[in-house]
Amino acid sequence: MTIRLHNTKTRTKEVFKPIDPSNVRMYVCGPTVYDRAHLGNARPVVVFDTLFRLLREVYGTGCVTYARNFTDVDDKINDRAAATGRTIRDITDETIGWYHADMDALGALRPTHEPRATDFIGQMIDMIGTLIERGHAYAAEGHVMFEVRSFAEYGALSGRSVDDMIAGARVEVAPFKRDPMDFVLWKPSDAVQPGWDSPWGRGRPGWHIECSAMSYELLGAAFDIHAGGIDLQFPHHENEIAQSCCSHPEAGFANIWLHNEMLMVEGRKMSKSLGNFFTVRDLLDKGVPGEVVRFVLLSTHYARPMDWTAEKAEQASATLRKWRALAEGVEPSAPDATFLSVLSDDLNTAGAIAELHRLAAAGDAAGLVASARILGLLLPDLGDWATVAGPDAEVSALIEALLEARTEARKARDFARADALRDGFAAAGVVVKDTATGAEWSLAPGFDAEKLKALV
Ligand code: AMP
Ligand code: ZN
Repeated sequence: MTIRLHNTKTRTKEVFKPIDPSNVRMYVCGPTVYDRAHLGNARPVVVFDTLFRLLREVYGTGCVTYARNFTDVDDKINDRAAATGRTIRDITDETIGWYHADMDALGALRPTHEPRATDFIGQMIDMIGTLIERGHAYAAEGHVMFEVRSFAEYGALSGRSVDDMIAGARVEVAPFKRDPMDFVLWKPSDAVQPGWDSPWGRGRPGWHIECSAMSYELLGAAFDIHAGGIDLQFPHHENEIAQSCCSHPEAGFANIWLHNEMLMVEGRKMSKSLGNFFTVRDLLDKGVPGEVVRFVLLSTHYARPMDWTAEKAEQASATLRKWRALAEGVEPSAPDATFLSVLSDDLNTAGAIAELHRLAAAGDAAGLVASARILGLLLPDLGDWATVAGPDAEVSALIEALLEARTEARKARDFARADALRDGFAAAGVVVKDTATGAEWSLAPGFDAEKLKALV
């Protein structure tokens, strides 16, 4: 099976040739852990999890190493700790727990390595030392700066010159910088900020160095794929390339660079700073199954911007229910060859889903399941939601009428009747949540329409 991937660095679609087919290596930039992941953050997780699954299918399950970091040292985390009076470790541990729970719910496999930046400070200090020795970095006023003009290829990933980048970016001018483009490798910490001893005094790393140090440690000086959102291309990935290539000039760092486009909200990137976000947990709590979220995220090619809409979720839900009914009790066969070749063409997940529709229409349930699982769909663990029948109009009307009866009973102080209805809903498998705007309901697995009808 030939996999082709669009390499951002060369701006061409290339045939993927791993350095070592018995150990295919991929690094993806992970989250800064101080808050719940929003749906935009889930896009690279689901997209590159799908690539991980495809690589495992093609090269063998044990032949792919996937590293994704947790940034657990960052000024946003410090601010959160100061504002809440909690320790940094407490906040980052809790957030990592949330992240795992939320991404597990989307069917994402845990990467082989999930390094925390704070466990690799020594390696970062070593790499910064090497950069100074080689004349690519300089220490000034407790800081260590990378000297961008010392690396001729700076900007090659984004295809821009340093001067263009200065014009386009909001670069901070500081007295200790030789050039406004120079970026921080190490900075001093005050008594309350987290800090580590270093040859340049007590301090903490800049953001970019962690990915260079951890990918070197876990994957080596040269590896196959480096991925992340397109918002990271500049400056984060340019800086990673500069750090890694200057400390290990004999190696090429990452061969292929993949960038996912953004999840948008009304024409703008979903982001914490714009405040236009909702979290993965918000969706799951509203009853949108993780598998449905995953399906929607994969229904657009990763290199195109996309929106989340309720219509897409409904459509995905209906499709998955149909496929799950078809696949009930069926043993998966081998993944379909056309499906695999479509998916292998630059991770064409939208085309791959079209192939799943074809398999379903042909009644090839065994091929459907085997193929869908490479997209992380129709997995046994994620299917509970689909066994709950969709609320048809009759059931909805009945529940609404019974909720109305409960309100009336409360008004009339007929608490026996109100309590009987409450208990009856629970017994029938109707989950009722009272909110400021009225009662909301959903059906739990094992919903029993007969028990509901008995409440009338
Ligand atoms: P952050 O924690 O902001 O560094 O983001 C973690 C990952 O989510 C990075 O790979 C980002 O590129 C990605 N990301 C952030 N916002 C979006 C978005 N709206 N759509 C897609 N990916 C995003
Ligand atoms: Zn990174």
